[in-house]
Amino acid sequence: MIDPSLAPPGQHVASLFCQYFAPELPAVRSWQDARAKAVETIIDTITEVAPNFRGSILGQMALSSMDLETKPGLVGGDIFHGQIRLDQLFSARPALGHGDYRSPIAGLYMCGSSTHPDGGVTGVPGHNAARELLRDRRRHARNNKARATA
Ligand SMILES: Cc1cc2nc3c(=O)[nH]c(=O)nc-3n(C[C@H](O)[C@H](O)[C@H](O)COP(=O)(O)OP(=O)(O)OC[C@H]3O[C@@H](n4cnc5c(N)ncnc54)[C@H](O)[C@@H]3O)c2cc1C
Repeated sequence: MIDPSLAPPGQHVASLFCQYFAPELPAVRSWQDARAKAVETIIDTITEVAPNFRGSILGQMALSSMDLETKPGLVGGDIFHGQIRLDQLFSARPALGHGDYRSPIAGLYMCGSSTHPDGGVTGVPGHNAARELLRDRRRHARNNKARATA
């Protein structure tokens, strides 16, 4: 709507974000083979409610879970850097014992979608990680001061 350079005049780019697809398919099937059928199903589904949709497509690109893994490097095609499941939320995100933004390496903090409160463009994981980092810095400063005056 706001960037005319994406398509020639009078034409448009439609982006479809379709959930949910299994990252790994059963038996011998791979996303290499299943992608085209999934695309057809998606286009058919939209065409049911927007009848001119299929007929208006001039070109298309589809990224399956496999493509999201091999191209931008999202493991299992997971856009949230780890599934948002009950066993991966709150103190269990990214893993039990590591839910406080401090990594096992002293001074290295985790601030991405794999940390609480999970993926999305909220910025909250970064905010929380910065809060913990500042807390540690204040604690260090207090300890250094106490040592200096002892
Ligand atoms: C197709 C798709 C659709 C999505 N749709 C939505 C949506 O509708 N709503 C929503 O809330 N979320 C959506 N998400 C999820 C959301 O984009 C992510 O959860 C969020 O961007 C993750 O933020 P982040 O800061 O943790 O990581 P990222 O946004 O991945 O940022 C990490 C940054 O680090 C950089 N980087 C990596 N390695 C290095 C390095 N060694 N040195 C320097 N820089 C490095 C990367 O280039 C990147 O800029 C979507 C994601 C995808 C892929």
